[in-house]
Amino acid sequence: NCGGFFGPYLKFAGYDALIVKGKSKKPVYILIDETVEIKDASHLWGKDTFETEDTIKADEGKVQVLSIGPAGENLVRFACITHNKGRQFGRSGAGAVMGSKNLKAIAVRGDKRVEVADPDALEKFRNELNEKIKERLAALSEYGTPQMAGLINSSGSLPTRYWTEGYFDRLENISAETMKKRIYKRKKACFACSVACGKVSKVEEGFYSGTEVEGPEYETLYAFGPLCDNDNLESIVKANEVCDKLGMDTISAGNILAFVMECSEKGILDKVLEFGDHSGMIHLLYKVAYRKDIGNTLAEGVKKAASVIGKGTERIAVHVKGLEPPGFDPRGLKGVALAYAVSPRGACHVRHLAHRPNVTGTHPFDSKKKIDRLSYDDQPELIKKLEDFYTIVDSMILCKFITLPTVGPILWDDMANLYQIVTGIPTDVKKLIFISERINDLVRLINIREGVVRADDTLPYRFMNTPLKNGASRGEIVEKRKFERMLDRYYELRGWG
Ligand code: SF4
Repeated sequence: NCGGFFGPYLKFAGYDALIVKGKSKKPVYILIDETVEIKDASHLWGKDTFETEDTIKADEGKVQVLSIGPAGENLVRFACITHNKGRQFGRSGAGAVMGSKNLKAIAVRGDKRVEVADPDALEKFRNELNEKIKERLAALSEYGTPQMAGLINSSGSLPTRYWTEGYFDRLENISAETMKKRIYKRKKACFACSVACGKVSKVEEGFYSGTEVEGPEYETLYAFGPLCDNDNLESIVKANEVCDKLGMDTISAGNILAFVMECSEKGILDKVLEFGDHSGMIHLLYKVAYRKDIGNTLAEGVKKAASVIGKGTERIAVHVKGLEPPGFDPRGLKGVALAYAVSPRGACHVRHLAHRPNVTGTHPFDSKKKIDRLSYDDQPELIKKLEDFYTIVDSMILCKFITLPTVGPILWDDMANLYQIVTGIPTDVKKLIFISERINDLVRLINIREGVVRADDTLPYRFMNTPLKNGASRGEIVEKRKFERMLDRYYELRGWG
């Protein structure tokens, strides 16, 4: 789920899902309407995602578009699929998969009604939901996801200077409040959402004047800000815009830049990029997307780049199963340590959102229990419960911001209720958990088939061996013995002996 409008329009066109098989000999895009048509995209190849979307809309009328940019065409391993000039299928290189098929874009047009089992109950559910949203998600609506940066920083878990520090002492220069004052221009919402957590930012003066983009979200802010030791807000907006247009995941892109910064600082790379060099960052992003010079190596992601560069950089490179982590340092959030390690696609936050209960100390499903972010106890039980919950959220294709445990507004009972209202099929929470466990088993089996096994459920050298230098988690590492104990317990809970 990338938010936006594509999903609803695919349904309005009469389809629940789309599977693209094979590879075209020349660039094409797919147009979905009453029929499915494969059309020539030679004129679109080489264009960025914004130009591609504009061109297809000009040619096809009222359509919703997914597209790739030059990064996807050039098979950058963290290329993403872009929608609506700011919404991304961001992680794991889905854009490179489209690029490998010579598939530049997918457009959908639809205006069919969607039948639901109980329309009156759905109307009531929606009205109640919107009332709860007003009460509970006001801050998200006002400031967007960057609002969480302060909390993460105060827990000493905000990744800074390429995962060496957990506290960024210049956060106020790029905080949500500063963004609201300096760059936010308007709110932007996904289909039928009353939260409108998206923020369109515009830079109106200085070196980056004229930059305009939806964002930056928290993850982009962390990746091009503290992780690169950069407090120039306008440059972060620019890096966001460049990545969105070129079609690159900002989390992985920020990680690769910061990795290069550390390698440069240590003299391993010949001064390619220094920490805080924001104009150099923008320059290098283009090189990565077009695979120019060292950009060709960096386009492979930190794991492969380190194996090419050598000189001990394998111990510097921070990734799990080849995926660069989002903005939560697991040394200060022990539940996140386990969650990153067992996530089927590597260091991912959206499978579990384990940072939230770890940072707030509030148990998502049991108000009597507290979570100690530095304790290894009870984390396996917590992670399994969170994964089970978010597996159903993902299967029902709901937004994760309206399904926040303890906040909601949609929690377990509401999901069961909603499922019945829409499908007419009776269900309850117990059944949903059973289905979720089965999905998690299946995903694990697919990974095993592809050669990803328990030994890959681990963390990078730095998290296990190098203590955080500052902040509230100063001195913390993930202790291997205690981590293994969490892993054993997690496997036991999943029944994966
Ligand atoms: S809360 Fe969710 S659905 Fe609403 S605008 Fe934000 S991401 Fe989109």
